[in-house]
Amino acid sequence: MSKVAKRMAQIKPSPTLAITSLAKSMIKQGKNVINFGAGEPDFDTPDAIKETAKAAINSGFTKYTPASGMPELKQAISGKFLRDNKLRYDPEQIVVSCGAKHALYNIFQVICNPGDEVLTISPYWVSYPEMVRLAGAKPVTITTNESRGFKLNIKDLKRKTSKYTRALILNSPSNPAGVVYHKAELEEIADIAVSKKIHIISDEIYEKLIYDDEKHISIASLGKDVYKLTITVNGVSKTYSMTGWRIGYLGAEPVFSKAVSILQSHSTSNPASISQKAALKALNIDESIVQKMCVEFRRRRDCMIERLNEIESLTYTKPQGAFYIYCNIKNSGMKAKDFAKKLLEEKLVATIPGEAFGSDKHIRLSFATSLENIKEGLDRIKSWLKR
Ligand SMILES: *Cc1c(COP(=O)(O)O)cnc(C)c1O
Repeated sequence: MSKVAKRMAQIKPSPTLAITSLAKSMIKQGKNVINFGAGEPDFDTPDAIKETAKAAINSGFTKYTPASGMPELKQAISGKFLRDNKLRYDPEQIVVSCGAKHALYNIFQVICNPGDEVLTISPYWVSYPEMVRLAGAKPVTITTNESRGFKLNIKDLKRKTSKYTRALILNSPSNPAGVVYHKAELEEIADIAVSKKIHIISDEIYEKLIYDDEKHISIASLGKDVYKLTITVNGVSKTYSMTGWRIGYLGAEPVFSKAVSILQSHSTSNPASISQKAALKALNIDESIVQKMCVEFRRRRDCMIERLNEIESLTYTKPQGAFYIYCNIKNSGMKAKDFAKKLLEEKLVATIPGEAFGSDKHIRLSFATSLENIKEGLDRIKSWLKR
């Protein structure tokens, strides 16, 4: 009797949950845990954005908006796509959702049929395969490796593409490895997508958190044909330190934006009106605020790298974007899950085991924490691995 639907049987609980809840309970007990598990910026939301939200509440902007988002925000997103990404999406091609995660979920619901395959590049963001399964389709993993900087090998893409392939999920800069794709690489991917007629779901949530001389390029900007096949996803969570506000969005061909807005009209309706006002402010905020956060992230990345270089048994590829380092722990002889659990129990350092991203030989270290914590945490890892 008390059985959940079959649909749920194939969905795994997040593998990150066990370790993060353990870390949380240890922190609650007053233990001095260094947390490298964070999947969000540790900065506060900029004041100007918070003030805008307060003003929205005070002025009574507290009712339903159109399900796909308020027109002023869609207009601003349209402007943002053109300005930052050289992408022309008219407001009716845009849907505002409750976070980029929700936008992604909606996309798979509207593009996938049973039997369809969706390509995910491993290491991948933890929710992609489960979202694909929830849409009744099959996630197909393309594994990448460190020696190629975790970048997609075009030969593998060709090999894994079948007549059932509906879409490829691209995430640049990526979580967890900080991979940033260059123009020539994106062009190669776009050529294949166009020739095989597969959609590209481009998750660009880390676009502004990018380091050194790297530049973010939206794959949809590379030509008419690839533009038509691509659904571009972004949001305010990571760029403006607004994870709790839940605003993400997509740009797509009208046939898809319409379908997503119908789906949304019967499921969540509009994202919170107050958050939409806040997001509108964020999109118009002084760029220097974002740059400052980005500079701080780079400083932290470099500090983490410096410390990691002192630990011989750990290897990594230098992330060019986002705020994570994906470390290879295979020299420890432990599986990632055990490594993370032991490290937390014995040294009070929380990390995310790679099983969540498709590998039991890696852990993800987040540098969305203070320099002080980074130094202390890496000192602990070093002494732990030495014994
Ligand atoms: C954080 C994250 C998201 C989701 O962001 P929200 O807008 O907060 O839902 C999407 N994709 C990746 C790769 C992420 O790391």
